[in-house]
Amino acid sequence: MTRSLGGAELATSIRNDASVAAAALAEIGVRPKLAVVQATDDESTAWYVRSIASAAKRTGILCDIVDLGAVASTEQIRSTLVELGHDPDVHGIILQTPLPDGTDLDALREAINPAKDVDGANPVSLGRLVARLPAFAPATAQAVIALLDHHGISPHGRTAAVVGRSTVVGSPVAHLLVQRNATVTVCHRHTTDLAAGTRDADILVVAVGIPGLITADHVADGAVVIDVGTTATADGQLLGDVDVAAVDGRAGALTPVPGGVGPVTTALLLNHTVDAAATQYAQTRSDSLLAGARSSA
Ligand code: ADP
Repeated sequence: MTRSLGGAELATSIRNDASVAAAALAEIGVRPKLAVVQATDDESTAWYVRSIASAAKRTGILCDIVDLGAVASTEQIRSTLVELGHDPDVHGIILQTPLPDGTDLDALREAINPAKDVDGANPVSLGRLVARLPAFAPATAQAVIALLDHHGISPHGRTAAVVGRSTVVGSPVAHLLVQRNATVTVCHRHTTDLAAGTRDADILVVAVGIPGLITADHVADGAVVIDVGTTATADGQLLGDVDVAAVDGRAGALTPVPGGVGPVTTALLLNHTVDAAATQYAQTRSDSLLAGARSSA
């Protein structure tokens, strides 16, 4: 029997914590606010962004969707991100992908104020994460670790394989697993024998975006499989990277898609936004106290 590692219960508990913290901030006049910048007419992206906005609202967090349209230029998006970075009422910024063809995504990630980078997209955040310094981890990568913790699965001393090496999911997950004392193999599109890289892993994390890529051959008996992939089909289904029927009975545990990593990711984005608001409030207070002390000295 393959155990299902659902994310709903954990997501609810993270959202509840965020909501308590947001209410405490509201008492002192701080209303946490998240801005989501999007530039696409892709309906599944718009649906995802609306789901973040409604979860934010339920948690006591303001959420602005800044829709720049499907033909926005790199410069338009960049100047919007810089403006939001300076806006004292905005505490968290997410740059939603996909962006229009030809957009310079690397330059845009660098334009996100690191203090507000609640999805760990700026290379500064990733660098700090790798250097084990405080930073917002990409929410999806952190959700993988949070799900393992929630279900009592420790990476310590285990072997793990990560399929996918993107800077938002695969690479940060691999680093987080190493930080939790796992021995990690990273596979990607140039891996010639994928099954050889994955079939001995105690923990297998898949973040590729190819439905059904992972079959029984890729999975060790009893392995814990975390499916991060989400591919939306034309008929409105959401498919993971794992062939569920093929690995059923072989994997010891598997996250469902939808309902696994996804809801935890959204909850963590909200949690990060509340943390960012608290940190920015404390910084503003200490700046004004210092300025007051200097002017009266
Ligand atoms: P995400 O944002 O979900 O991480 P990306 O499209 O940015 O998705 O990255 C997909 C990752 O999947 C890349 O690191 C790529 O190397 C990896 N990948 C793509 N195809 C394969 C494959 N057939 N086998 C293993 N890894 C693959």
